Amino acid sequence: MRFRRFFKNFSALVFAGGLFCVAAGAADSVKTLERSFVKLAEGVYAIRHKDAPDTFPQGNTTVIIGDREVLVVDSCYLPSSAREDIAQIRQWTNKPVRYLVNTHWHYDHTMGNGVYWEAFPQLSIVAHAETARQSVNYNPGWFERFPRRADAFRRVLNDGRDANGKALSDGEKKEYEDAIRGLEPVHAEFKALTDKAPNLTFDSELSINLGGREVNIRHLGRGNTAGDAIVYLPKEKILISGDLIVHPVPYLFGGYPSDFVKTLGKLNQMDFQTIVPGHGEILRDKQGREYINLLGGFTSAVLAEVGKQINLIGNGQRNLEPVRQAVQKNFDAAPWRQKFAGNDKDNQDFFDTTYAGLITAAHAEMWGQ
Ligand SMILES: [Zn+2]
Repeated sequence: MRFRRFFKNFSALVFAGGLFCVAAGAADSVKTLERSFVKLAEGVYAIRHKDAPDTFPQGNTTVIIGDREVLVVDSCYLPSSAREDIAQIRQWTNKPVRYLVNTHWHYDHTMGNGVYWEAFPQLSIVAHAETARQSVNYNPGWFERFPRRADAFRRVLNDGRDANGKALSDGEKKEYEDAIRGLEPVHAEFKALTDKAPNLTFDSELSINLGGREVNIRHLGRGNTAGDAIVYLPKEKILISGDLIVHPVPYLFGGYPSDFVKTLGKLNQMDFQTIVPGHGEILRDKQGREYINLLGGFTSAVLAEVGKQINLIGNGQRNLEPVRQAVQKNFDAAPWRQKFAGNDKDNQDFFDTTYAGLITAAHAEMWGQ
């Protein structure tokens, strides 16, 4: 779970709750311990990144090569990892990266932007208009807050509870200790970074032809963030989802759960065979559709229970903890936990974290209405 919990807690601390996502990892684990890539079609590659030293997860990067130029989806978190990706791209092709799409504004998908910008002067950074706005508002602050981050983690460790009040397991405590140790090398990387926000925006849809290859970029509705973009290759039937889909355990700590369910429904109407999730392993054929159904089913079920308990207990932020306790008492999350996390301890811990985060997000969405 690593950066996920990290991400969630940190976002809650920094933004007073609400804005965030976090993700799960491989088919077998929410942690990613090794860098790897896979060829999805001729000229289409997906790269997975090893988690950062501060345990922060890094978003997947997808590389799409046309006859004239190259489009990259998400620039990951560490500048050093983005540089490795660019070196790898140069082994695959001598064509320039002309477009970099940010699927959403979160740091684990955008902090490599400046590295691409420096390597490819003609680069356009593409995002939904809301993502561009949020990148400008939030991303520079990530660097400024770094010196305070270790203190925030120490507070969580001392409290023994995360931002959603969930008691830390021994594995989670160790993760926080590892994260504190890993902050310094990550901060050193960011000190030398040029931050770059998107400069080519769209509202609903944008098609780009790379020469013999069409790339379709769409906003299907809010979900993980207000400006989620998906990237679709109609000929190859490849869908690059950003953190709308994270596998094997989703990032449900923030965002807009009701809209998320609707957006998942639209995703599932698309004609795809392969999904590159925001984090985790590639999903193929019916595995992708089944996972989307599982995500939608779980989110809908938790939303219904949260709504029921708000009706019984009362609305308002002050009732968040009573509502959470009632939901956790009455809703049987165990079958869902088994479906998402299996028997892996890290995955189970992370499921508990994402479930608590979903309750918080659903509560915020409902009582605010
Ligand atoms: Zn992410």
